[in-house]
Amino acid sequence: MQSLTDRKKVVGNKEMTFKEKLYLPAIFKGMGITFSHLFRKHNTLRYPEVKREFAPVYRGQHVLKRDEQGRENCTACGLCAVACPAEAITMVAGERQKGEEGLYREEKYAEMYEINMLRCIFCGLCEEACPKEAIFLTDRLVPSTFERDEFIYGKELLVEDVNLRIDITKRQLTGKRTEK
Ligand code: SF4
Ligand code: SF4
Repeated sequence: MQSLTDRKKVVGNKEMTFKEKLYLPAIFKGMGITFSHLFRKHNTLRYPEVKREFAPVYRGQHVLKRDEQGRENCTACGLCAVACPAEAITMVAGERQKGEEGLYREEKYAEMYEINMLRCIFCGLCEEACPKEAIFLTDRLVPSTFERDEFIYGKELLVEDVNLRIDITKRQLTGKRTEK
């Protein structure tokens, strides 16, 4: 068979010496290398007890923000979905009904809004595209799970709790925008 390159290595099959047959020198040599690592600086952390500090502009789990009155900012315009290179965002727009003025800021809102976290590459383009300051990436990690379905985040996981607001100002101030 013709090879792609001329590089080849002849593998020797010489008899092992008595010292090699004992294996002990090789074992002690290996243990010495392992032992020497005890005194070196560790590059690993004892996660989850110790957590690595993230960069201030780290992009993690998204949040759909509410305004000061607790109304959802998102108007289901779809710009975030169009901007998403991973096609991770899907939504269904709904029309605000009379009496729902306290729930949704504008006449149109996202009846359904989903992000597939397995597709998402956390590029932040959805955040960039949003004209309503509705979607932001945060410094939260997306928790791991064994079920693929559990990575589809709906509004129940994305929209912030009225009484438990997600502070995105730190990351935004370090980046480029301020929260409105
Ligand atoms: S961060 Fe990027 S990949 Fe993830 S949903 Fe937003 S636009 Fe799509
Ligand atoms: S998050 Fe922003 S860009 Fe996406 S649909 Fe809602 S308002 Fe539009």
